[in-house]
Formats: sequence, C-alpha cells, structure tokens
Amino acid sequence: MSAEHPTVVHWMDGKEWAGTSTRTSPVFNPATGQVAREVMLASTSDVDLVVTSAAAAAAEWRRVSLTRRTQVLFAFRELVSQHKEDLACLITAEHGKVFSDALGEVGRGLEVVDFACGVPHLLKGGFSEGVSTDVDVYSIRQPVGVVAGITPFNFPTMVPMWMFPVAIACGNAFILKPSERDPSASMLLAELWQRAGLPDGVFSVVHGDKEAVDALLHHPGVAGISFVGSTPIARYVYETAAQAGKRVQALGGAKNHMIVLPDADLDGAADAAVSAGYGSAGERCMAISVVVAVDPIGDDLVQRITERIGGLTIADGAEPGTDMGPVITAQHRDRIAGYVGAGEAAGATLVVDGRALRVEGREEGFFIGPTLFDHVTTDMTIYTDEIFGPVLTVVRVASYDDAVRLVNENPYGNGVALFTADGGAARRFQFEVEAGMIGINVPIPVPMAYYSFGGWNQSLFGDTHMHGTEGVHFYTRGKVVTARWPNPQVAPVTSGPDLGFPTHQ
Ligand code: NAD
Repeated sequence: MSAEHPTVVHWMDGKEWAGTSTRTSPVFNPATGQVAREVMLASTSDVDLVVTSAAAAAAEWRRVSLTRRTQVLFAFRELVSQHKEDLACLITAEHGKVFSDALGEVGRGLEVVDFACGVPHLLKGGFSEGVSTDVDVYSIRQPVGVVAGITPFNFPTMVPMWMFPVAIACGNAFILKPSERDPSASMLLAELWQRAGLPDGVFSVVHGDKEAVDALLHHPGVAGISFVGSTPIARYVYETAAQAGKRVQALGGAKNHMIVLPDADLDGAADAAVSAGYGSAGERCMAISVVVAVDPIGDDLVQRITERIGGLTIADGAEPGTDMGPVITAQHRDRIAGYVGAGEAAGATLVVDGRALRVEGREEGFFIGPTLFDHVTTDMTIYTDEIFGPVLTVVRVASYDDAVRLVNENPYGNGVALFTADGGAARRFQFEVEAGMIGINVPIPVPMAYYSFGGWNQSLFGDTHMHGTEGVHFYTRGKVVTARWPNPQVAPVTSGPDLGFPTHQ
C-alpha cells in the first residue's frame, strides 16, 4: 500500500476489508494517463476467508422467504437508480468511456435487477397431481450455494450485473472478482446492497489477479463460476473450474461482423457502423469490427463511413460533447497501434489512421483515434484477431452467400448484424448464421434482460448464457419430489412388500 494514492480494498461481511496480502496494482485514469488509485490484490488465503464468510451467509440466505428477497432486490434497484450518476463517474474515471455511455451501461445492468425482482415467478416449479394412486410429483429449483463472478474491464457494472442480481435472487451468495483495472464501481455496488438490507456475506468483492482467480477456481466451497473476458482466459477458466467439479459459464472474446446488402439504407448502415465500431473506443464485446460490404456498394459505404468519422469528437470521456474517450491502458493503445501497422504492411487500404491523434490538455492520456481499413482480407491479423479498439475493417464480398460463409467460418460467434430492406433475406440470415446474438438492422443486438446474453463457438465455453431463464437455470439446481400421501379410508396404505420396479399403474 502507498500513502500517495487511495487504496481500493475488498468487501467482506458487509464492510470494507483490507485483506492480508500487501500486493497492489495501480488503477489509472486513462484520460490523463495518471495513477488515480491502487487496488489490493487478494492472496489465496484472502479468498479462502471470503469464501468461508460467503458459505455461512449462503446457508442462511436460502432460507429467507422469496417475499423478503424481493423486497431487498427492489430496495437495491431503487438505490442503484439513485446513484447511477455516481457509478457512471467512477466508470468514466477508471475505464475512460464517455459519461453518457457509462450511464447507459448502468441502465442496462438495472434491467437485470428488474428481471430478478420477478424471482418468485421465475422459481415456480411444476406440479402433477395423481401420477399414481395418492402420488403427486413436483419440481423445485434450489440455489447452488456460493457462486463467483470474474469480470472484464470493459463493463465494470453491467457485466457483474448480468450475474449477481439473478444469483442472489435465486438464494445464492455471490463473490465478485472484478477487473483490477477499474475496481471502484463494484465497491459502491457492495455498499448499495448493504444499504438495501442484504444480509452480510451474501455479496462480497475480492480484488485480484490470477492468484485470486485460481483460488476461486480451485476452492471446494465455490459451486459455480461465471466468467466474462477474453477467449484464452475463458477457455482456461472453463477447463480449470470444470475439472474442479464446478458448473461454469465462460463468455469469451468476439469478432463481430456487420453485413450490408446492396438494398440497405446506406446512411443508416454507415451511422450504425460508426456507432458500433467506435462507441466505447471499440472496447465492447458486441462492437462491430468487420463491415462486410456486398458488391457493388463498397466504395459508397466506405465514403459515408469516412465522412462520419471526421465528425467525431475524441476527448476526455468526462467532458460533455465527447463521442469517444481513451482506451484502457498505454499498453493496450500500443497493441492497437501495432495492429494498425500490421494491417498497413499486409496491404490493406488505410483510409483513416488514428495513430497520430493528440488530445489537447490530455497529452499523457491513452488515446488512439478512430481507424478505418478497406480491402481487408481474411489472412490479415486485423481480420483474424480481436483488436478491441477503435479499428473498423471493411471486407468486400460478391454476394450474400459469400458474406454468410465469411461469418460462419470465423471462429467466434458472439454478435452479428445484417443491414437490408429484404425481409426474406433477413429470415434466411437468422436461420443460417452461426452466432448467439443476431441484429437485423440493429448493429449491437444486446438482448433484453428477460432473454439471455451469450455467444456461440469460441465466444462461449459452457452451456448456459447469462441472465434470463438460462441465468436462473445456471444459478439453481432442479429437484423433483415424488410424494405419496395415502388416504387409508379409500385404499389400503400397502398390500405388502413388492420387489418389482414401480410402474405407477
Ligand atoms: P481478460 O480476459 O484479460 O480479463 C478478464 C478477467 O480475468 C479479469 O477479472 C482478470 O483479472 C482475469 N484474468 C486475466 N488474466 C488472467 C489469468 N491469466 N488467469 C486468471 N484470470 C485472469 O479480459 P479483459 O481485457 O478484462 O476484457 C476484455 C475481453 O473481454 C475482450 O476479449 C472482450 O471481448 C471480452 N468480453 C466478452 C464479453 C462477452 O459477453 N462475451 C463481454 C465483455 C468483454
């Protein structure tokens, strides 16, 4: 710990907790490039203490009535709503995204709290009366115990909120391991849970890096792991947690395509490509990174996108009127710039080069301007790799079939969009395309909270997507009860032992 910067600590038993480790990591303000805070990095034994606290809380919380749980959720919803600007300020200060975008992410997270407020309905089971003489069968869903969420830097509130409202509503205790790069919003969320009346220990925050993650993946007291992050870590988390006998859902990276058919409204498509490509500096798992222009509209579309890029304001995300802020770290900015260099060297046409951008008064900030490549081919690293920055690549193809083949041959399968005026093509597309979230004339098709969020192929390891009914299933276990309550006045309780297999005849 240093006296120079405030330190973000863990949250255990309903209060801040410094932990036993002395390891810390710097937290930057990406717009200024300065270290704003430090965050504690938990040790394996810190994680053990948090899991022990959560396990005790989980045993009690599952007994709390659905009515009471719902009251706590409604109170939390109200408090998050009251503090959404405070949360957005923390997000902008540590992530760098513009304030309105940060407010938007809190709003999308709140939609999952809204969904979870309906938990009494979501947990209703089935009942079959009289499946045999005096025998009824019914199904119930019960919490799994302690579950952990390991989340990425790019949505410090929304992604955790895909997980914990549903997990907690279902009667589990939840441990959040947020990104160490923007850890502060999770602490305000913890405080709001406490003020909402959530019993201590039901929601904990443990900050850390690989050591903390590994401790959660191996801990026998953790029953389930929800992960969102890059594909290599998602695969590692999935394999390690599954090997340790846990249920696991691990959402990975993406390379989202937007196909534009010749009959599309090209102004609308260009607006969508710019919004979805450069919003949040391209640091969204649903960002569009590949525009697939179907002949003969390539020149026209590239020109319209270029014109719009010229109108964007790139500055500190906290300043009103900013369209795009910095990226998360200096290393990430340099990595993105490296991809731009590689694209140029590979022969793609660099239409707009964002590398030279300087933001006045923010010269030390981690800025890189919007970048546009045309005539990109599938062997180039700017096509094959997830860049996760403000770089849009245009691939030209001859037909709808070529466009869909391109998407389906890509190893990821998070989101994909089609822009067209042809309803028949749109129907065919949603049937044929290999991805989890499909937009028809919608560039970023993030599902509403009562549907489930998740991709296919290398964008998902595990079987269940997040929130919606799949979230409820992930955070609960099914149980079926077969009950016999004989009425001796109507039929004898038993006519003697019967070693045959019960057939309910
Ligand atoms: P990341 O994979 O580096 O980190 C995610 C989490 O894993 C963090 O909490 C981090 O501390 C932890 N982690 C990092 N390295 C680890 C290691 N070696 N062992 C164990 N844990 C480790 O991802 P990021 O850079 O924070 O976020 C960006 C990535 O997340 C992008 O690839 C993006 O596509 C992806 N993402 C996916 C979705 C989705 O829904 N599929 C949503 C948001 C972000």
